[in-house]
Amino acid sequence: MADPHTVRREIRLSASCGRHIAEHLVSGLPYEACGVLRGKAAAGGMRIDAFAPIRNVAPDPLHRFVLDPVEWTRECLRGDGLIGLFHSHPCSPPVPSEEDLRQLPLFAGMLSVYLIGSPKNADGEMELNGFMIEKEKDGLYHLIPAVIKHG
Ligand SMILES: [Zn+2]
Repeated sequence: MADPHTVRREIRLSASCGRHIAEHLVSGLPYEACGVLRGKAAAGGMRIDAFAPIRNVAPDPLHRFVLDPVEWTRECLRGDGLIGLFHSHPCSPPVPSEEDLRQLPLFAGMLSVYLIGSPKNADGEMELNGFMIEKEKDGLYHLIPAVIKHG
């Protein structure tokens, strides 16, 4: 069997959805912003069609995020292609933090895509990293880097 880390994973992101995520990231500054992603499985990975912002209710939103439980529940009840989670790192690179990995089991069973964005410049552009949430042989969920394809 192929090593799961060598399998190429792709996350396809529509331009409008990418813009929506970037705008939400900027509107949340200096705090972390978060939201959910809707889409479906596609050849070689997942396709993201829509983004829905969710309020970050963390007591210390500069360095972490907690999804507003009412908005999160509403998004879950809508069903219909809920596949992933986005949050931003306003002041650090878009790579999973220790806190992110600690929180992962809260969402991992029901989601498969994990996006982290950081501001790239003052023009509202962002640097975006994508991961697939996968359960590995150790029985734990891991974030496996994926390639983001725009368009
Ligand atoms: Zn984070």
